Amino acid sequence: MVWLTTGIVVKQWVAVHRKHHAFPDEEGDPHSPHLAGFWSVQLGNVFHYAREARKPEVVEKYAKDIKDDAWDRYLFNHGKAANVLGLTLLCLGLGVGWGLLAGVLHAIGYVFILSPSVNGLCHVFGRKNFDNTATNLQSIAFLTAGEGLHNNHHAFQRSPKFSYRPGEFDLAWSVIWVLTKLRLAQPYTTIKEALAQPTT
Ligand SMILES: [Zn+2]
Ligand SMILES: [Zn+2]
Repeated sequence: MVWLTTGIVVKQWVAVHRKHHAFPDEEGDPHSPHLAGFWSVQLGNVFHYAREARKPEVVEKYAKDIKDDAWDRYLFNHGKAANVLGLTLLCLGLGVGWGLLAGVLHAIGYVFILSPSVNGLCHVFGRKNFDNTATNLQSIAFLTAGEGLHNNHHAFQRSPKFSYRPGEFDLAWSVIWVLTKLRLAQPYTTIKEALAQPTT
């Protein structure tokens, strides 16, 4: 579904994302508003992302555990095919006019508002629970199913639950929680659980 609605190639996204975590707001960060400028990331995040995702050495280094299978080689490694297929399905379902309008609104929302807000706004404005360069913005978290709690995410990158304090809400965690109850997911340690573990 992510491939169909965004055209993202998994290993490219993983590589750029891991590199961001390796160098948050330092030299090497693919999309730091502190290095590239706030508006450059807030409006041009997609270009920062694409520049990094196109580097084979970055993908090789940061996503070497993600191997291609036949599905990847013939289908999922072709992001533009996803865009064409997604738009075609929208037009088939909604009619050409509404389908194109929905596709354009979705693209603008994802590429220029939601995704860049996590990398732009959530590295500049907002609150911090933990000592790192990212920030929490609950307003962005409402729009991005939790991603806006980005300071929490940078502090505990493997926590599937991005919310931590009372008043913080991560919609995606509700979905993961239901899947867990249905025994369809086995989430990794949450922030609270990780903090409760004794340190050695
Ligand atoms: Zn970040
Ligand atoms: Zn992350």
